[in-house]
Amino acid sequence: MKKRLLAVTAALIFSMFFSLAFVSCDKQKTKFVCHSLDYFDTATTITGYEESKEEFDRVSGEILKLLSEYHKLYTIYHRFEGLENLCTINDLQNGAHRTVSVDSRITDMLLYSKDMYDVTNGKFNIAMGSVLSIWHTYRTCGLADPSQAQLPPKDKLTEAAKHTDIKDVLIDAENNTVYLQDPEMTLDVGAVAKGYAVEMAAKYLEEQGISGYVINVGGNVRTVGTKPNGESWLAGIENPSPDSDIPYVAYLNLSGESLVTSGSYQRFYTVDGINYHHIIDPETLMPAKGYLSVSVLCCDSALGDALSTALFCMPYDSGISLVESLDGVEALWIMADGSQKYSSGFDKYLAE
Ligand code: ADP
Ligand code: MG
Repeated sequence: MKKRLLAVTAALIFSMFFSLAFVSCDKQKTKFVCHSLDYFDTATTITGYEESKEEFDRVSGEILKLLSEYHKLYTIYHRFEGLENLCTINDLQNGAHRTVSVDSRITDMLLYSKDMYDVTNGKFNIAMGSVLSIWHTYRTCGLADPSQAQLPPKDKLTEAAKHTDIKDVLIDAENNTVYLQDPEMTLDVGAVAKGYAVEMAAKYLEEQGISGYVINVGGNVRTVGTKPNGESWLAGIENPSPDSDIPYVAYLNLSGESLVTSGSYQRFYTVDGINYHHIIDPETLMPAKGYLSVSVLCCDSALGDALSTALFCMPYDSGISLVESLDGVEALWIMADGSQKYSSGFDKYLAE
């Protein structure tokens, strides 16, 4: 008995020694930050605590390398010599799509997106490229020359919507091929690609046993562990009201979770004094109405990204039921009038 007590005491002292050693060692870690504008047409910020700038440069260099690879695979706007990507999947050859052999990071993301189509009852649909590209063209023209800004004709959108059936996206996960069965279909992964890539980069760090990092790609925030002293990270939810002086409407404590926001206030163009943003409701084929922003807090930034876009397209009642049915997922809706609604467990993340 005495022996056992001694062993327990020794183990306790041993573990105390180690945790003290851990804390004092981590106290020497310094915060470093790096920025890039090269990926996913948005700003990337990596924050991390390391003992030296060299180590931070090494780790952040690896993260940026991964983001660069995912960016090249997932972009629908650029081709790269010798690389099959979302852009070449969308290409036509003699009036039809090809069966394209791709990197497994593409098939994995597309399979995930098909699952999310089901989870969101079709509100998140990566097969909506034909509709989204029309909005993209009209928005780009309207921003280039606001005096000529126009809305896409309804019949053009309705015609395009006939080519958005997710069942026409054929994925062979064993052989890593993708084939779009409908020649007039294209994929648009803008609602999930950033979050998915950020999640993969965060998982890579976790596999390496690295923590004390935050990866932020265009507002898709994923924390990896806590700060070295065990403190959580403070993340702000942007105020979507254009006339307000208050930059953030809420601050959240994150320790390994992700926070993703979809909003109508950043990417839009104006026709006859009305703003038309970039999140399109698959049912109306028009920019979704009802919210200024929807933020999702959960452990997985791919889920957060797909879900925040989908929730933005759903009436609040359906959205809150979906969020409450998913384990570990919380959300904040900022309604069109600026008022806020939270899911049931959201407030436990709110900072004082
Ligand atoms: P952001 O990319 O600005 O962070 P989102 O994650 O909400 O915002 O993604 C918006 C993008 O997703 C659009 O620019 C468009 O490419 C695409 N998209 C818009 N509506 C939908 C939808 N209902 N389902 C899937 N993708 C969509
Ligand atoms: Mg999204």
